[in-house]
Amino acid sequence: MADVVLRNVRKTYPGGFEAIKGVDFAVGDGQFCVLVGPSGCGKSTLLRMVAGLETISSGEIEIGGRVVNQVEPADRDIAMVFQNYALYPHMSVYNNMAYGLRNRGMAKPEIDARVQEAARILELGTMLDRKPRQLSGGQRQRVAMGRAIVRQPKVFLFDEPLSNLDAKLRVAMRVEIRKLQRRLATTAIYVTHDQLEAMTLADILVVMNGGQVEQIGSPLDVYARPATTFVASFIGAPPMNLIPLDADPMRAQFGGAAEGGILGVRPEDLVITAEPAGPGALTLDLTVEAIERVGPETFVYGVRGRSGDLTAISRKPGELPPDEVIVRIPGQDAPPIGSRIVATGLPQH
Ligand code: ATP
Repeated sequence: MADVVLRNVRKTYPGGFEAIKGVDFAVGDGQFCVLVGPSGCGKSTLLRMVAGLETISSGEIEIGGRVVNQVEPADRDIAMVFQNYALYPHMSVYNNMAYGLRNRGMAKPEIDARVQEAARILELGTMLDRKPRQLSGGQRQRVAMGRAIVRQPKVFLFDEPLSNLDAKLRVAMRVEIRKLQRRLATTAIYVTHDQLEAMTLADILVVMNGGQVEQIGSPLDVYARPATTFVASFIGAPPMNLIPLDADPMRAQFGGAAEGGILGVRPEDLVITAEPAGPGALTLDLTVEAIERVGPETFVYGVRGRSGDLTAISRKPGELPPDEVIVRIPGQDAPPIGSRIVATGLPQH
């Protein structure tokens, strides 16, 4: 069994900055765990502590039933794939993959068998003699993964491995990584700031913010039932609408239902309607402020209770101003900018 368990893990960097403020979670054998959160939330620090590249200030990290706090990185039975691939430029693809195994004194036939098998899985068989500079970004990334695979580790650790690739390749490699991990059934911890990557890769999602865990769960569970307003606006694009229950009619309608006076509604759970909503449904009077057509669907940005006022609204990335609401509608037909619409839907509490 190669599960990974973190118990009240903390990290204070020299100088006193507390980057990790007590983190607990467990990754089961063979599971794919994704640590996701904004830049600086501490996800790389946490991964590097699992790898042994960073000391643990307090708490405990266990890999495969063994506490590894004092265990050297080379003895943790992990393999890490980095953002910059970290390939040796002067070595062939074959030697890049074989290098770590030779260093461990593994017999030549065994090394060759492992490298050939990894090359087959990753479709690098025809490129074994090339140098990294003769490869595309995606191929380099596959070599970096090959180097991890040949070690047959108990745990794969990925630190934003796709962030240097262009958007199209990133999607393709994301699918590759998932297929590979299913096939090898090796426990994996993967760090990203990209919520879509996190949603599509994870068995378990760990959403981090400011050195702490905000929520742990399956991607769909976190999406459907975000535990905090941070998670609600970080997971999902466009973000969840967070509507303060300041208006009296809303308070009367949902007063008991919404936590902390904020109602969360996903853009796809709203519809534009001419009919009055039924009992228990949310009703929002909106003025259309902007339209984004992305092909198969359209995002309609509306403001509540500000009829006629279409001045630009400043907005933090990923966060909606309290009176702005996004409605996600299929197709390309959208109401004109400046028009008044009614959106209805069932809120999540
Ligand atoms: P990113 O997505 O930008 O890589 P991250 O979530 O991986 O961010 P970390 O790299 O883990 O974040 O950093 C967490 C916090 O710890 C940041 O505020 C960072 O400035 C701080 N930090 C990281 N390394 C050190 C260090 N060696 N000394 C002091 N502070 C550090």
